[in-house]
Amino acid sequence: SQRIKIKALLESGKTDIDVTVKGWVRAFRQNRFIALNDGSTNSNLQIVVDFENTDAVLLKRITVGAAISVNGKMAASLGQGQSVEVIATDIEVLGDSDPEKYPLQPKKHSLEFLREIAHLRFRTSTFGAIFRVRNTLSFAVHQFFQERGFVYLHTPVITQSDAEGAGEAFHVTNFDLDNVPRTDTGEVDYKQDFFGTATNLTVSGQLEGELGAMALSDIYTFGPTFRAENSNTTRHLAEFWMIEPEMAFYDLNDNMDLAEALLKYVIKYALEKNREDLEFLNQRLLDEEKTKPQAERSELSLLDKLQFCLDNNFERLTYTEAIDILKDSTPNKKKKFQYLVEGWGTDLQSEHERYLVEKHFKKPVILTDYPKDIKAFYMRQNEPDAQGRQTVRAMDILFPGIGEIVGGSQREERLERLEQRMDEMGIPKEELWWYLDTRRFGSAPHAGFGLGFERLVLFVTGMGNIRDVIPFPRFPKNAEF
Ligand code: ATP
Ligand code: MG
Ligand code: MG
Ligand code: MG
Repeated sequence: SQRIKIKALLESGKTDIDVTVKGWVRAFRQNRFIALNDGSTNSNLQIVVDFENTDAVLLKRITVGAAISVNGKMAASLGQGQSVEVIATDIEVLGDSDPEKYPLQPKKHSLEFLREIAHLRFRTSTFGAIFRVRNTLSFAVHQFFQERGFVYLHTPVITQSDAEGAGEAFHVTNFDLDNVPRTDTGEVDYKQDFFGTATNLTVSGQLEGELGAMALSDIYTFGPTFRAENSNTTRHLAEFWMIEPEMAFYDLNDNMDLAEALLKYVIKYALEKNREDLEFLNQRLLDEEKTKPQAERSELSLLDKLQFCLDNNFERLTYTEAIDILKDSTPNKKKKFQYLVEGWGTDLQSEHERYLVEKHFKKPVILTDYPKDIKAFYMRQNEPDAQGRQTVRAMDILFPGIGEIVGGSQREERLERLEQRMDEMGIPKEELWWYLDTRRFGSAPHAGFGLGFERLVLFVTGMGNIRDVIPFPRFPKNAEF
């Protein structure tokens, strides 16, 4: 087709050339000015209609939401807000849109409302910006790893292991659910299922990723991940995308350095590539802030926050040091984080994480060396400290406004220690014989992490709900579109 994308036209700034543009009508003012958008940019292209010489029937069909094709000439624009516009010579309506029924009127809609019409929300400025930023971030992730010689390894979606046994896996079966085969003792007979065993959707590609790293040295996965999260939070989805690099011969420090470099790289990339979208999202947040009382307003704008993240080292400290800070801190009106005062060994709640990041350090934080008992079996064990407390070489990266964005660790490469830990935790070694083989034959120190892609997109776009940064959100009781 002869169509030129609106972004390219606006950037070229050329006048006096003939063009064909196609897109959707965002607004039509005074029977004269069409605001046209084709999704390539947040800016609408102004189309000037010669309404006196345009057929009245055609004019009536130029409504909000209609798809149109326009032939015309580029001209310098006298109006505010754009430097060029198109003087239309010929307009064709490709798809009508009944303005009475079209849900997206040219006004501000609430995010809640737009979530109900998620199939159409792509057409709004906000969601156009979000999904272009998301696209850029995913490209930047690949570029980061490819520049460093990592191999993109596609780990399976259907697996037999649920990685950490968190019980959040979705079952996969091709049984006729009205007629599930059972053994003599009445249990579901998975031997008769498609794979001859119980299977589920992947909750993490890590274990398979480790197999890749033990031969290719540096690999990463980047694919959909599934967890039957029962909670309705603004930070969890049932289907999300996870970036999981795994590196041979890396220790925990190397792992932290890589994760911090990755986050800074992709944020910087988006700031350069999607400046206009991020400025739009920045303004959107500023407008939202103005509706709040002064005391609750955020000190930094979205763009400031992103720049701050690039310009500062992430604070690194151990879990034990974090507990020491928390037990002496008074988050509100002298009330201490009571249960943490003697609570070494308990997992941090999001209020504690947020306190550390948003109040205490006011910057991204990497917490390391968590108690062994609250972390997964595959993390490398530290020697017990003077008080006999046992920790593992775990790291969690916590971001302002987000909480946990990365979870990772140096892996336990010592077969004996690993087997012992699996026994303690009741994880069947027979089922993971293939995983243990990496420790039997040429075991090597290695490390890796998982970065939740939507949490990254949340941070970069400044949105408040994870359901707004994935095109087709999956959460309890929602899988329609
Ligand atoms: P959380 O404590 O927030 O539930 P987690 O510790 O269970 O996260 P990990 O198993 O460490 O998560 O997974 C690695 C990363 O994947 C997390 O740091 C987070 O960024 C992301 N993540 C985990 N669960 C979800 C989810 N349900 N939806 C979106 N992202 C998720
Ligand atoms: Mg979780
Ligand atoms: Mg967690
Ligand atoms: Mg985690």
